Amino acid sequence: MRATRALIHLDNLRSNILQIKSCTSPSVKMCIAVKADAYGHGALECAKVAAECGADYLAIATVDEGRQLREGGIKLPLLMLSLCSPEEVKDAVSLDITPLLFDIEYASLFSQECINAGKKNYPVHLAVDTGMGRIGCLPEEAGILAKDISCLGGIVIAGMCTHFAVSDSLKKEDELYTKKQFELFKKAIENVKAQGINPGICHCCNSAATLNNPEMHMDMVRPGIIVYGYYADEVSREFLEAKGIKIDLQPVMTFETEICSIRNFEKGKSVGYGCTWKAEKDTCIGILPVGYDDGMFRRFSSAGIKVAVNGHNCPVRGRICMDQCMIELEDDKTRRWDKAVIFGDKRFGALQTADDLARLTSTISYEITCGVSKRVPRVFLTSLTR
Ligand SMILES: *Cc1c(COP(=O)(O)O)cnc(C)c1O
Repeated sequence: MRATRALIHLDNLRSNILQIKSCTSPSVKMCIAVKADAYGHGALECAKVAAECGADYLAIATVDEGRQLREGGIKLPLLMLSLCSPEEVKDAVSLDITPLLFDIEYASLFSQECINAGKKNYPVHLAVDTGMGRIGCLPEEAGILAKDISCLGGIVIAGMCTHFAVSDSLKKEDELYTKKQFELFKKAIENVKAQGINPGICHCCNSAATLNNPEMHMDMVRPGIIVYGYYADEVSREFLEAKGIKIDLQPVMTFETEICSIRNFEKGKSVGYGCTWKAEKDTCIGILPVGYDDGMFRRFSSAGIKVAVNGHNCPVRGRICMDQCMIELEDDKTRRWDKAVIFGDKRFGALQTADDLARLTSTISYEITCGVSKRVPRVFLTSLTR
């Protein structure tokens, strides 16, 4: 196996999920987001741990993601958070994927397929746009729409949901925005009930709201990023602790490689494409077999990220290439084939997390873990030992 790999700490995953569960009342169901290959961590393995930890639903984005889980033996209900194309509807139904829907045209595709397949009461969830500005019907349309959907046949509304746009921000105006979204969602639910329709499982909380807005849990929460060990922006460890909520999330991924060559560079010798960096003194350069096609993005080149070698911070020198990059080594005790850890669990030698890396490169932890590409093997660990 290549040395560039993503260690997946399933024990951290389990501990994160159980801690999140302890923040919700036992009657609140948990839908764990395993979309995007579990934010880059490996959907099937993560789904199995989620199931063991008592997840009630798993959230996916595409029919293909659902197929992968079903083929891997996952029996839990799968909630598809994005729309699929008409040609995928047949497969979605045969894989028992619960779609989110919010218009008659798309609902009819599912209804027709269910009728054709002889399915009755196939569950669908009604999505309401209360301010995210993505998918969903308007709150005031929800009642009529629910009635129309219920008349189509084959399908039944088994749940209702909305999604928050700024629940990870602590700004006063953003907190008010989330409250307003929640109120609009409750109105939409009332509109559906007023049509004599049971709205089913109502859910709206992403990671940030799961931890910060327990009053909004309703019937189910949909955590994602916190499951993988990262706090949701301003809803940080420190903020939660100050609120009396002790939750110790640990990163589930460690991204590591090894030094495949060590070379002595004389003062003035340049490194990499564009000759953007020159040795300021005689120095040692380590070559790493990891590059932007692996998720070690080119924009990390001069961002001040910390690559850890035996506990030392070894800065990236020159531009990161497609398959390789170069670091300046701290001392001459470094040996060829020593590990170089890019981000992750400090117990595995990391000096930074995906969050630190995200801050340095103006993005979010989600994009960093999702960015570790599929040519990087995932190594699933069940304990602190390798
Ligand atoms: C991705 C997603 C979530 C999970 O979001 P996190 O911020 O990772 O908790 C929840 N609900 C919907 C609709 C999503 O798209």
